[in-house]
Amino acid sequence: MTVLVRSGVGLLCAVARAAIPSVWRGKYFSSGNEPAENNPVTPMLRHLIYKIKSTGPITVAEYMKEVLTNPAKGYYVYRDMLGEQGDFITSPEISQIFGELLGIWFISEWMATGKSTAFQLVELGPGRGTLVGDILRVFTQLGSVLKNCDISVHLVEVSQKLSEIQALTLTEEKVPLERNAGSPVYMKGVTKSGIPISWYRHLHDVPKGYSFYLAHEFFDVLPVHKFQKTPQGWREVFIDIDPQVSDKLRFVLAPSATPAEAFIQHDETRDHVEVCPDAGVIIEELSQRIALTGGAALVADYGHDGTKTDTFRGFCGHKLHDVLIAPGTADLTADVDFSYLRRMAQGKVASLGPIKQHTFLKNMGIDVRLKRLEGGRHQRNARQSKPFASLVAGFSELAWQ
Ligand code: SAH
Repeated sequence: MTVLVRSGVGLLCAVARAAIPSVWRGKYFSSGNEPAENNPVTPMLRHLIYKIKSTGPITVAEYMKEVLTNPAKGYYVYRDMLGEQGDFITSPEISQIFGELLGIWFISEWMATGKSTAFQLVELGPGRGTLVGDILRVFTQLGSVLKNCDISVHLVEVSQKLSEIQALTLTEEKVPLERNAGSPVYMKGVTKSGIPISWYRHLHDVPKGYSFYLAHEFFDVLPVHKFQKTPQGWREVFIDIDPQVSDKLRFVLAPSATPAEAFIQHDETRDHVEVCPDAGVIIEELSQRIALTGGAALVADYGHDGTKTDTFRGFCGHKLHDVLIAPGTADLTADVDFSYLRRMAQGKVASLGPIKQHTFLKNMGIDVRLKRLEGGRHQRNARQSKPFASLVAGFSELAWQ
């Protein structure tokens, strides 16, 4: 669940757009016979139907990309990001402690690597900005340790709406869009604790320099291509319009090979796989940057080590949701293949893990932190919004994530 990278050089993987064959025969599988009231025609569904009618079935990767990041459609449904907390961590208290422990982890990495005079804290996909807020609070509390270090914060975010929320969380004010539309930085401000903060749409726009990178529940929203092994070889899963039911989508298998097959390992033994070229491109870029200018990256996500098959799923209000129903109303996600991330970092930087989030937090001393929290609560003798026992239970649950 966690991969850490440090120092080492490059290799590149290309992102391929599948050529869409004109004949769609053979297998198809629908997502169930939902009654019409359970399959509302959302504006995103209308947009996708129009797109498929114009250019043919789309890959699962394109579907994810459209549903999650099409700015024209205005859907930002990540982890109920505009409402509740993410579901990776079960309680706001544990989420806060997680951010604080990450802050301590970054500082200890900074100390272990020679206390550079400056570093950038770069977060990929910061959601509401709460995690980076918790990390910055630790930087303030440990100000005496960091007092001679120039820190800046750099956020990579594609959603305009979420970047506005991040700005409010971290600077407590509205940060205007940069006037120059061609500038790689689209917003710039200063955090509550006086640290310069900038927003970018792509990692490659972030200035090169000694950096600590964080990607928390970021890689699992990147688009995946899905493949199935058939007697004719690997066939990619596409999304098409169901000819039997109006305004309904279904999965179909491509009749011939498609370019993204290049991302499947030659010795692959599974019969269903998901590949995420974007993740490879980003890990490549991270590794090259770290090899060039130093630093470390921490990736925390739902994932596996190259063993799982079908993990593409939808969540709405923390409940499983059919991925093809009412697109734009549910979060879409696919587990991260950490064995792939490690392969893409190999030879450039050292990569550690993955390890379970639970183990990482235990190694970082979460038990001590929880005990202190309990002590504080007893002392205050205040009415608790959540009993300590449930906090500990919340933490224990992380073992199974
Ligand atoms: N890290 C946050 C939220 C994760 S949700 C947390 O832990 O709570 C995924 C985030 O990634 C959202 O902020 C989303 O807008 C952003 N995102 C998705 N695809 C992206 C991309 N290709 N580039 C940059 N940000 C992206």
